[in-house]
Amino acid sequence: MQDNKALRRRSAQGLEHSKDRVPNEVKMQYETIRKGDPGRWGLRPNLADYARARQELGWEAFAAEISGLPGGGLNIAYEAIDRHALGQNKDKAALYWEGAAGESERYSFADLFNLTNRLANALRGLGVKKGDRVFTYMDRTPELYIALLAIAKAGGVLGPLFSAFGPDAVRDRLADSGAKVLITTPKQIKIVRQVLAGLPELTTIIVVNRKGAARELGPREVSYEELMAEAAQAPALEPTGPEDFAIVHYTSGTTGKPKGVMHVHQAIVGHYATAKLVLDLHPEDIYWCTADPGWVTGTSYGIFGPWSNGVSQVVFEGGFGAGRWYQVIEKYKVTVWYSAPTAIRLLMKAGDQAAKKYDLSSLRYICSVGEPLNPEAVVWSQKALGLPFHDNWWQTETGCIQIANYPAQDIKPGSMGRPFPGVTATILDEACEKELAPGQEGHLALKAGWPSMFRTYWNRQDYYESRFTNGWYITGDRARMDQDGYFWFVGRADDVINTAGHLVGPFEVESALIEHPAVAEAGVIGIPDPIAMEVIKAFISLKDGYQPSEELKKEIKQFVRKKLHALAFPREIEFLPSLPKTRSGKIMRRLLKARELGLPEGDTSTLEE
Ligand code: AMP
Repeated sequence: MQDNKALRRRSAQGLEHSKDRVPNEVKMQYETIRKGDPGRWGLRPNLADYARARQELGWEAFAAEISGLPGGGLNIAYEAIDRHALGQNKDKAALYWEGAAGESERYSFADLFNLTNRLANALRGLGVKKGDRVFTYMDRTPELYIALLAIAKAGGVLGPLFSAFGPDAVRDRLADSGAKVLITTPKQIKIVRQVLAGLPELTTIIVVNRKGAARELGPREVSYEELMAEAAQAPALEPTGPEDFAIVHYTSGTTGKPKGVMHVHQAIVGHYATAKLVLDLHPEDIYWCTADPGWVTGTSYGIFGPWSNGVSQVVFEGGFGAGRWYQVIEKYKVTVWYSAPTAIRLLMKAGDQAAKKYDLSSLRYICSVGEPLNPEAVVWSQKALGLPFHDNWWQTETGCIQIANYPAQDIKPGSMGRPFPGVTATILDEACEKELAPGQEGHLALKAGWPSMFRTYWNRQDYYESRFTNGWYITGDRARMDQDGYFWFVGRADDVINTAGHLVGPFEVESALIEHPAVAEAGVIGIPDPIAMEVIKAFISLKDGYQPSEELKKEIKQFVRKKLHALAFPREIEFLPSLPKTRSGKIMRRLLKARELGLPEGDTSTLEE
């Protein structure tokens, strides 16, 4: 047990500080990655000179490259699809879809234009109006992408849910946002029917039945295929404006249930500009973002970023598998690849030989986001794939990449890079008042006002305002900036757990835990994990009459897994006679964590006797 703790302590410290201890051989390797190298395909980087871009490029310059609606206004789906379908790109592939079972389908920009028009008309027919919240809850099939774009065209606010969500996760989000329509599939319908009674505002459930097998529709359910057959194909664009809500993503905070982060149509300027300059998308690229739209990355960079740049992209329906992923790259000749550290560490685990079995020579540029990318992973990719992963940083609230490594500059392995042109980032002191000098650790903050900045948390304007101080948006992350202006992630400033790139609020898991009949109290923390960065550990005290046992642990884990989703269940459970609490009765997660990792307990003056 003690050994375990010591290991975790070292691991936790390693995660926090390894970035300063880049081994010498790594540094030497990086001295060879030269600035401005046109790369494998002879393409000049879109951002060729960082210093000049920061001086000369602002958001106005990027906004000028966006079309806007012909009659005035702005709509993210028009920028992503219509403007290409109505221009020279109409026959160009927008989507190469690879099904989990190996099926492939190709959709041109014109195909997506027509299909999204039809569905947008159908949504209108179902009463969807500007500002109505419409959610998707399905696997990554082409219909998911058609649905999300159609919602925006109809003027609705699109809300993508992970298809693996359990009933509590689905109900909380639909109820909180007052969703009007849900688009789902037979695979998820059982869960939807389970939560329906608690969702009086949900008027319609559209069921996409790809496999076409006959099935009965329940109350409020309509068939996607029938709707599409009956709907008009005429253009169906709602004249939205830049400040109209377009996207809602739920994100976890330290307290309370997940909150709806609201983005507006103007966000497309951020998606477009960062996809062009950070992901370095060129018209000839075949791009693959591995993220699901249930996570903001899968929306900003799995839909709007690449398509607003008129780039062809691959969507793979299946989950992670090293061989399967390499196969996708080989089959579609992917050139630009955007993934996440947990997946990269799993690829490392699968070994160099797994990569060598496939022809990955099409790749020219690779990026990563979501968690700290350890320097070793950057070095590994250089060795195994012949290219370094470029880390970048952003979050649901920022809507688009804020800090990044760019193709035209050297990478410092372990650093998130430098602020995007138009973004001002800084490190603030503990009180979030003074900017700190390079080298000092503090709160990572951004000067408010970029186009894809969230505009509010749904129905929680007070909480939204609490995230800003003196014109700075306080990100909730701790970081340092070095003398060269590179930012280095240190950790979260709050209790939020980052497991495999997904933020999980401890409160959400604790709430699910205490619904189990045996659980009296629950406290949840993140503990270091070599692959997923953190996994969830729950401390539980049991109600009278229940005895700790391995069986009970298993049962409780399954209970939470079913209610929430696969990433939000505790991998470890420890039973305690009671949990440390403040005098006001709040469970002291900080103390649980310090004890778990064998770190100093800090101020315990508020600890209940
Ligand atoms: P989400 O809003 O779910 O995308 O999560 C955003 C959070 O993920 C950030 O506030 C960070 O804590 C973490 N994160 C995202 N990108 C990085 C990165 N490149 N390095 C370290 N942490 C990251």
